[in-house]
Amino acid sequence: MTTTSTGTPARVVDFDDAVARFDPVMGLEVHVELSTATKMFCGCATTFGADPNTQVCPVCLGLPGALPVVNEGAVESAVRIGLALNCRIADWCRFARKNYFYPDMPKNFQTSQYDEPIAFDGYLDVEIPGAGDSGEPPEVFRVEIERAHMEEDTGKSTHVGTSGRIHGADYSLVDYNRAGIPLIEIVTKPITGAGERAPEVARAYVGALRDLLRALGVSDVRMEQGSLRCDANLSLRPRDDAAQQSVPFGTRTETKNVNSLRSVERAVRYEICRHAAVLDAGQAVVQETRHWHEDTGITTAGRPKSDADDYRYFPEPDLVPVSPSAEWVEGLRATLPEPPAQRRRRLQQDWGYSDLEMRDVVNAGAVEVIEDTVAAGATPAGARKWWTGELARRANAEGREVTDFGVTPAHVAELDGMVGEGRLNDSMARQVLEGVLAGEGTPTEVADARGLRMVRDDSALEEAVDAAIAASPDVADKVRGGKVQAAGALIGQVMKQMKGQADAARARELILERLSPPE
Ligand code: ADP
Ligand code: MG
Ligand code: ZN
Repeated sequence: MTTTSTGTPARVVDFDDAVARFDPVMGLEVHVELSTATKMFCGCATTFGADPNTQVCPVCLGLPGALPVVNEGAVESAVRIGLALNCRIADWCRFARKNYFYPDMPKNFQTSQYDEPIAFDGYLDVEIPGAGDSGEPPEVFRVEIERAHMEEDTGKSTHVGTSGRIHGADYSLVDYNRAGIPLIEIVTKPITGAGERAPEVARAYVGALRDLLRALGVSDVRMEQGSLRCDANLSLRPRDDAAQQSVPFGTRTETKNVNSLRSVERAVRYEICRHAAVLDAGQAVVQETRHWHEDTGITTAGRPKSDADDYRYFPEPDLVPVSPSAEWVEGLRATLPEPPAQRRRRLQQDWGYSDLEMRDVVNAGAVEVIEDTVAAGATPAGARKWWTGELARRANAEGREVTDFGVTPAHVAELDGMVGEGRLNDSMARQVLEGVLAGEGTPTEVADARGLRMVRDDSALEEAVDAAIAASPDVADKVRGGKVQAAGALIGQVMKQMKGQADAARARELILERLSPPE
């Protein structure tokens, strides 16, 4: 086994082989940016995409003498997240200073929580798709939560130069708008027992957490914008089916800032294969952070990270402790949304989807968007068809979300309505969707601009039917003689003559009427 200077082995072990011989252990750390109007410790706005350094003040710039004040809305969100994750809520806890130097962190410490998190000891039940392709019911896997704590985001550095990375950059720019935005960090206990399904469990956990946070309304949970970020820790230990739980954990690596559900699954899978190769070569896994590369599907070494990293944590002297009263916490418990898994079962019933259909919808990440589409007036069947068809195919191929293409629930409801009213047939509706995807406007605008409208006027259709029958007397005879399937050829001719702008079902009706033997 050869290793490159970055510690990337030249070879990795095949996944099936790796999990046959090793037991993966994972730990997932998720950072979620809260969607509060103001920052964690000051009144600065949190709007995404504002001009650099326009949402800053002495507190979030770390100027001497500035005093922070805790954002009550952020504490409320933290408690609701903790409750939704079945955690215990601290009746008293403090912030702590995590000291380290980085140019995007102007105070030289991050205000965080250390040994006194606001929420701890919880769990989240996640569903992973049933094995196989025939719609087996999902498997439920319990992920235990170690803690959820409050902290603040750092600023954002942009390294200008060809590499886009700090190494080899010509110069770097820092934007402090993000510095001080409230973050909640949710850390799992080591996840064991997932075996070969570990990558899927990782993906399902982050997906379930995202759904839960969205349902709580505490964050816009956009992974591609960084408002939900995942660090994936992984280690392998030898497989011992008789006494697996007593085998000590191996050395972990921490793959940082993985920013899509698909990448979470791929990054864990890759690290399993890489660790197996390192161990097979008789080498030691280096405890370090790793960078995930979406394009090549591999990780590379970041910085070494020992468990003894000394951040010189100490309680934050400028902030009062947080001590949520039991009454307040119970009041917040009453505001929790229906748990996502239960909600999915209820929606499946309401929408009349089969298990297999619901599974496709869940896998496409389309539950919420279908709910919005039905609320906007679409039929459940229509909403499902459009969101799990072309849009899901694109999303899957590009590792994006179905909602990332500029098509909205209102668009799909409009399109579904146009099909329902008989204004568009199926193939026209597909062309309209293409137009919406290409940014040509709403479905009505696209249909008008492209001249897509089914001809409703039966007289034009009747003419086309008569012409088709006259042009193919032998086919017509077959239909008259009872071979109804033969009508397909005539329908094809009619649709061609009508330039596709007819209702094929109505054309079929007319053909069969014309060719039915007299009673
Ligand atoms: P750090 O400060 O390194 O980020 P955290 O405690 O915040 O440490 O997170 C570490 C994560 O890794 C947790 O989810 C923890 O359960 C998990 N973990 C700890 N040890 C191991 C291990 N040997 N293998 C895999 N995951 C681990
Ligand atoms: Mg951590
Ligand atoms: Zn500020």
